[in-house]
Amino acid sequence: MEKLKQRILEDGKALSGDILKVDSFLNHQLDPNLMMDIARAFAKQLVNKPINKIVTIEASGIAPAVMLGYVMQLPVVFVKKKFPKTMENMLVREVYSFTKDRVYTVSISHDFLTEDDHIVFIDDFLAYGNAARGIIDLCAQSGSTIEAMGFVIEKGFQGGGDALRAEGYEVISLAIVDSLENNEIKFR
Ligand code: 5GP
Repeated sequence: MEKLKQRILEDGKALSGDILKVDSFLNHQLDPNLMMDIARAFAKQLVNKPINKIVTIEASGIAPAVMLGYVMQLPVVFVKKKFPKTMENMLVREVYSFTKDRVYTVSISHDFLTEDDHIVFIDDFLAYGNAARGIIDLCAQSGSTIEAMGFVIEKGFQGGGDALRAEGYEVISLAIVDSLENNEIKFR
């Protein structure tokens, strides 16, 4: 998506440790117009898929996911990055975060993810694919079907996307960054 790539080049900063900082439009401040364009770009690639629900993970996946929910007129459910003791019927899984270098617990209520669901998983970044693996496991636990996964930005050099594609998952990434070396952002 050309507009997204331009915005990444204008506002993105390549940090040490292979992190791309896009706080001005995706991870802290949000640009609703760009978010709507992102949602439309995802929707275009999801036509003809029998999707009835959008699943994302808090916090930064929620903005693009809810915009996509609006465009596709579908409900959006976000996976929580903790295990709320007050909630019942939760599906739970551990996920490793390389940006935070720690393991955290993700959970979703079985009430909102069932064997009747055909979902698209939406997230801000795809790196090594750990978050996506967590979602795959939660979907398996619930009996739901993953029709596709959509990422605003994929860091291709970390390999998560290629591994998921090799396993047959439909992975839609609107911008694929192939290098952040020398603080320079290079796209695939
Ligand atoms: P993965 O689980 O695919 O290794 O990493 C994806 C998750 O880590 C995303 O949900 C995102 O929050 C975070 N993440 C990974 N790489 C980056 C990055 O370069 N920049 C930002 N802002 N978040 C990232």
